[in-house]
Amino acid sequence: MALPRVDVFHNGAVRLGSNTVCDGYAEGFDYRVQTHIHDDHMGDFNKSKGMQDIFMSQETKALLISELNADIEYRDNVISLNWNTVKDLEDGTKLTFVRSGHMLGSAQVVVEHSDGFRCGYSGDFAWPISEVIQVDELVVDSTYGNPASVRKYTQGEAESRLLEIVSQRLRQGSVHIHAHRGTIERVLHVLSTNVGVPILASKRLIGEISVYQANGFAAGSIIRIDSEEGRSCSSALGSQSYIRLYAKGDGFKNELIEGTSISCSAFMTKPDNPVIEYSERAYGVALTNHADFQGTIEYIRATGAKEVVTDNTRSHGVDLAVAINSRLSGVNAQPSSNLAAFSAG
Ligand SMILES: [Zn+2]
Ligand SMILES: [Zn+2]
Repeated sequence: MALPRVDVFHNGAVRLGSNTVCDGYAEGFDYRVQTHIHDDHMGDFNKSKGMQDIFMSQETKALLISELNADIEYRDNVISLNWNTVKDLEDGTKLTFVRSGHMLGSAQVVVEHSDGFRCGYSGDFAWPISEVIQVDELVVDSTYGNPASVRKYTQGEAESRLLEIVSQRLRQGSVHIHAHRGTIERVLHVLSTNVGVPILASKRLIGEISVYQANGFAAGSIIRIDSEEGRSCSSALGSQSYIRLYAKGDGFKNELIEGTSISCSAFMTKPDNPVIEYSERAYGVALTNHADFQGTIEYIRATGAKEVVTDNTRSHGVDLAVAINSRLSGVNAQPSSNLAAFSAG
C-alpha cells in the first residue's frame, strides 16, 4: 500500500515525505524539524537528539539552550537554519523555514523533493502573517479547527483590556499573571512601559526573556523573585504594589492569599469578549498567538495546497477537515491517520 506523503503519527510527529518528521520522533526518519519550543511539540526530543539530525531556527535553538542548559549548543546534529533560506539536505530534499508569528523562533516548514513535490507543515501559526509557505500538500495545525472558534475582538483589544484590569487591580495589591511562553513576553511588553510598579519573575523566565531581548524584543527590567530586591518587593512588609509573571514551571496558583490572579490564554467561551471575571480577584484574558478558525481557513487558502492533512493528534482535526472540504473548493482535506510511528523504509 502506498503511504501518504504527509501525515501525523500517533505520537504527534508530523511526517513530511519519507525521511523528515517535525515535532516528534519516528524510527527510520533521519531528520527532525523542531518548529518551536512549546511542550506539545517537544515529544521525544531527547530520543531525537541521539538518533536524528535536528533542524530549528536560531531563535528556537537559543531558547532551548536557555531552558535545557544542556549540550545542545555543542552538538553537531542540532543545526540552526536562517529564515527563508533553502538548505540542501544529504538525502536530496531541500528544507526551508518561514516565520509563523506564533512565538520567538516559531517556523512554518517546507520540504521540497527532487521531483519538485513540495510538502509543508504550518506549525502553530498566527494570522495574519507576512509570509505563507507555498506547497502542494500541507499538514495544518488544528488548534482552532472548530468553526465555533471565532474571535470577534482583536488581539490589540485583548491587550488593552488586560492593561485596564492590571492598572485597576494594582490599587488593591499585587497582580499575578500566568501565560504560555511567548504570550507571557507579550504581556510583559504591554505592561512594562505602562505600569509604574516593579515586575518580578523566576530566574528561568528571566533567562527566557533575555533571549527575546537579545533578538530585538523591547522590555523593561525585571527583578528576580529570589533576589533581595525581589523578596522585599513581595514580602508582606512591602508597601509597594508589584506584578509577578508566571510561565512554565513557575507554580502559578489561582487561589492567592493576597492580590489578583490573571490567566492569559486562548479560551473561547465568549466570542465577543476577551475577558472573563471569575471573581473580583481572578480573571481570564484571551491573549493568544494562534490563528482562530477563520484565520486557519485563510491560511490554508494562502498556501495553495490542494491536499491537506489536519493534525488530529493535538486538536480538532476532524472538525477542521470537514470545514475545509465544505469551504475551500478544489482542496481535499482529511484528518491525520494517527498511525503508530514506523519506518517508512
Ligand atoms: Zn505552540
Ligand atoms: Zn501547539
